[in-house]
Amino acid sequence: MNYRHAFHAGNFADVLKHAVLARVLVHLAAKDAPFRVIDTHAGIGLYDLASEEAERTQEWRGGIGRLLDAPLAADAAELLRPFLDVIDDVRAQHGPLAYPGSPEIARRLSRRQDRITLVEKHPRDAEALREAMAGDKRVKVIALDGWTALNAYVPPAEKRGLVLVDPPFEETGELDRLAAAAAKAWTKWSTGTYLLWYPVKDRREVATFHEAVRGGPIRKVLRIEMLVTGGGDPRLFNGSGLLVVNPPWTLERDMAVLLPALSARLRREAGAPFRCDWLSPEA
Ligand code: SAM
Repeated sequence: MNYRHAFHAGNFADVLKHAVLARVLVHLAAKDAPFRVIDTHAGIGLYDLASEEAERTQEWRGGIGRLLDAPLAADAAELLRPFLDVIDDVRAQHGPLAYPGSPEIARRLSRRQDRITLVEKHPRDAEALREAMAGDKRVKVIALDGWTALNAYVPPAEKRGLVLVDPPFEETGELDRLAAAAAKAWTKWSTGTYLLWYPVKDRREVATFHEAVRGGPIRKVLRIEMLVTGGGDPRLFNGSGLLVVNPPWTLERDMAVLLPALSARLRREAGAPFRCDWLSPEA
């Protein structure tokens, strides 16, 4: 377990993931009934982009740095507003280069009646996460293997909510593992929303992952993917994607506005592709 998200916080992949996460949370919060968020690979919750780790890679400059560089078109700005408001609030509280991880975004975009289960395996990161979430009784931090947690914690008592699965992909075979673990969780809770994050390096590996999901039991999967390069070199971190199982009905429409706006800001090569389409439709 060498991966530390502090080196990567706020990069182009975080921006896409957190923008989508915020849209899903806004949709869940539109109904009074309580929901649960389960984050199986939660990280430390709150990042400092002036930290030694972030300074070393400077990845955030090509992500949240570029996004906040100049005003966005009105329609994209409106859809990003909840996410950008979280960033503003976190910066007002923690300093001008603070950046919220998925737990902090979930915490700030949920209500009194909602609950948040955060799982982080690295003991030091789990401790940092516990400190970042301290005092919020709606949040439970568990130092545990996220794959075990994914199987153990669904369905949540609320029977509404979302599961974010955001592994570090530092071991080979994690795409296969993600497809298999998601299928198993879905058979226990087929009505929850799942956000399955994946990196795009070698597009053939990604295509195999998509086929594995398409060939499994899961239905109603929206694929959201954005590259920042042309994707020609399979050794590079060319982009990232999210498979959203049981997406809010509004998400496809939101992404039609957001993907071109995010791509225009974040791409490094002209013509870097993006897509939002149905990997598998409803049964
Ligand atoms: N979801 C976070 C966010 O958006 O702010 C970022 C998570 S980061 C990509 C992946 C995290 O998973 C790291 O903090 C790492 O320590 C943790 N991790 C690695 N293996 C794990 C496992 N088997 N179970 C749970 N957490 C794990």
